[in-house]
This record gives sequence, C-alpha cells and structure tokens, in this order.
Amino acid sequence: MESKSKGGKQVVDLVLNGGTAITVDPERRVIRDAGIAVQGENILFVGKSTEVSERYTGKKTLDCTDKVMIPGLVNAHIHFSHHMSKSLIPDTLGPAVQSQFTHYKASPKLTAENEVWGSKALLIEMLKGGTTTFLEAGSYHPVEMLEGGIEQIGIKGFMGRRASDRESLGHSALMESTDDILKHQERLLKDFSDRKNIRPCVTIVGMQRYTDRLVIEAKKMADRYGVLFTLHESAWHDTVTECRKRNGCRPIEYLEKLGVLDENVALVHMLFVNQKEVDMLAKSGSKVVHCPSAGVKLGYPFVFGRFPEMLEAGIPVALGSDSSDCSNYHDMIRVLNLAAILYKGLRFDPEIMGAERAIEMATINGAKTLGLENEIGSLEAGKKADIAIFQTNRFDWRPMFNEVQALVHSATGDSCETVIIDGKLVVDKQRVLTVDENEILAKLRSMEQDMVSRTGISIASPWKFM
Ligand SMILES: [Zn+2]
Repeated sequence: MESKSKGGKQVVDLVLNGGTAITVDPERRVIRDAGIAVQGENILFVGKSTEVSERYTGKKTLDCTDKVMIPGLVNAHIHFSHHMSKSLIPDTLGPAVQSQFTHYKASPKLTAENEVWGSKALLIEMLKGGTTTFLEAGSYHPVEMLEGGIEQIGIKGFMGRRASDRESLGHSALMESTDDILKHQERLLKDFSDRKNIRPCVTIVGMQRYTDRLVIEAKKMADRYGVLFTLHESAWHDTVTECRKRNGCRPIEYLEKLGVLDENVALVHMLFVNQKEVDMLAKSGSKVVHCPSAGVKLGYPFVFGRFPEMLEAGIPVALGSDSSDCSNYHDMIRVLNLAAILYKGLRFDPEIMGAERAIEMATINGAKTLGLENEIGSLEAGKKADIAIFQTNRFDWRPMFNEVQALVHSATGDSCETVIIDGKLVVDKQRVLTVDENEILAKLRSMEQDMVSRTGISIASPWKFM
C-alpha cells in the first residue's frame, strides 16, 4: 500500500540522491545528478534527483554525490571448486595442460570444507567488486555448499554439480557414470530449488567430456525444472578436431543435431566457432559466455574468437571471470575492461568494441544469459534494486569527463563502495554487512598450508622463494 507523507510525497524505503546513474535501460540513459527510489526489493523510479525529491521521501536516504551507480554486475562463469588453488597452479601452463594439472593434482584433494569456505571467499570477492548475480559451472560438493551457509552472504546466483562421463583427449579426471550424474543432478534440483538467493541449475563440464546421453538428458532435465543448462565448449581447437572425427561435424553443429541448443543454454569460452555455428547459435537463442581474463592468461588464441560477430548476430554475449586458478581474480571491472579492449588490438579496429559494449555484456547481456532480463541487468522501474555504487573522488577515476569510460578504462572494482541487492544494503563502506568477513578470511588462511601439504604442489617459479 502506498503511504504518503505530509507534503504529498510518497514514502519509500530507500532514496539514492546525486551522482551519476549508468542505467543500461533501453534508451541507455546516463543520468547526471540522478535519483533512484526503491520500494521493497524493487526500483520504483529512476530519473533526475530533483524529480525524485519532488515525488518521494525515503525512510533511508543515501547521498550519492561523487558516486557512479550501475546495475549490479552479472558474472556468468565462475567455479567454486577452484578457489582454494588460486596462485597454487603454475601460471605458465597452456589451457589443456592447466586443466589436467588442476583436475589431477588439486581438485581431487579438495574437501567439502575447502570448497564451502573457498566459495564464501569467492562470493565476497565478487560482491565487494559490484557483482550481484553469478552463474557457477559445477562444484564437487554442491550439497555441502548449499547447506553450508553460502546463501547468507546475500549475493544471488545459480550453481551446479561438476559432471563428466567421457574421456576426451586423455582427460578423464573425476569421471562418473551417466546414471550417477543424472541422479545427483536431479537430487540437487529437487532439494534446493526453493532457495531464494542461490539456486541449483544443470551443469556439465562440456568440451567433449560428455556422452550423447548425458548432454541430451541433462538438457531435458533443465527443461523439466525450468532452469539453466551450462557447459564449456569449443575452447580449444583439439576438441573441435576430435568432435569432427567422432561425429563428422563441429561441436556446435553436433549439439544442434542432438537438439540441445536452446534459449536456456549458456555455452562458455566458444573460441573455435565458425560463422555457420554463430548463425546456428543466434537462431537457437543459445547464450555465449566470454571469459577474456582467464583465456588471455592461459594463452587461448582469441584471434580466432568471433565475439564481435556473435554480438552482431544478436547473441547477448555475457562475461565471466572463470576459475580462481585460471584468471585468478573476480573483479568484473577488470574483466569488462579486457572485453572492451581485447578485440581492438586483435582486429586492428578501435571501433569494434568499446566501453559501452563491455558494460552491456556485464549487465543486461548477463541478465539475458541467465534468463533474468525482466528482473536485473539495468536500473529501471520495476526491476530488482540490485545496484553497485562506485566512489569517484579518487585518483583512479579523476579527472573524469565521461563516467562510462572512467568506469571501464580507469577504475577497478576496488572503488566499489556500496552494493544493494533486492533493495537491501549488503556492502556498505566496502564492508560486507551480512557475514563476518574477518572470520571467513581467517578460515581461508588457515586452510592454505593444508592445501599445499595435501596436494604436494610446490611453487613453480624461476625466482627463489625463501
Ligand atoms: Zn570454466
């Protein structure tokens, strides 16, 4: 029910006043001296601060002078299970070798406790950088994690269970039978779909490490439960060659033949995709997640990537930070900076991408990829009040003439000061309000030596650690 104050203004839960709002709304308004009214979990109004002051009185008001407000960022590809091996894995391994190293030496040694506390740390890292929604690609201990309090943090997202039932190119780590995988996946969906913040979806490893039956049945399960289905695909040329040998066509063509491509499918990496496959993806409504920070570090040949063409074809390419031992960070501002500049150099074309495109990828495209474009991804009346607020009275942001450029090319997530999710303050003055950060950090640090002892991985560096 609407409540009116004496002055005839509507009383709302929260008013943000001042600063610049990069709305990513259909008109792509960048509103200076902006105002946002929030009622309950939703945005009620976005406009000039004078308009908001005339119409609304906030039970709580945040002065956003010198701030930049953006829609909460969407990180569409992370891995909970790799967080405890951040900086443990050598940084000189190519993509396939790195994956082998991680999955044979580090991942099998992970305990549920490692994964629960590692994921809490990952979620906090993301949240403090302005990410409010994520898509996780498959954990080893999803039940323990969903029961282990990760929801309390307040960040929203989808997670799954790691699943592979086929050896590909010598990679057979952590394989299971198709029946076991499907049984566990369905259990997860049945037991945790009613969660508010972090809900299960269907995840398989992908990259040819699946049988036809697994990929078909997993997709059917995602349809039955009305959830997302995500998998890695076409990251390396070898997997394309293997698919051609085995199935007589390229991976995306094969998924199309199997009837797997669809609107609820998010395919990750997708570097070796030809134009015919781009057209197929666009027609099917499938989504693509581009992970530039992980790929560049691992030496993926991005020169073959067709992300500009995918965007041109109408595919809402989203961004992901990938795992903590691939990109090693989850600051989405750094990721969207790379997305903005990478293809300028690769194609000798400064106009091919840019700051605006990158912000779209990390907001509204991420929302579309997760099937949430009516709820998140822009600052608009009716959408959830998921807002990241950045401090610009800093040397990295100033001088500032164009807030969009400053955010993408000059800032990092470290300047994110306040995060609001579903209308509630979750980060204030760079501190997470929902959980005890110090406790999580201390627990994380207490597990470091144990990770080294159990995995037996020693530092690989030409330098002498003393
Ligand atoms: Zn991944």
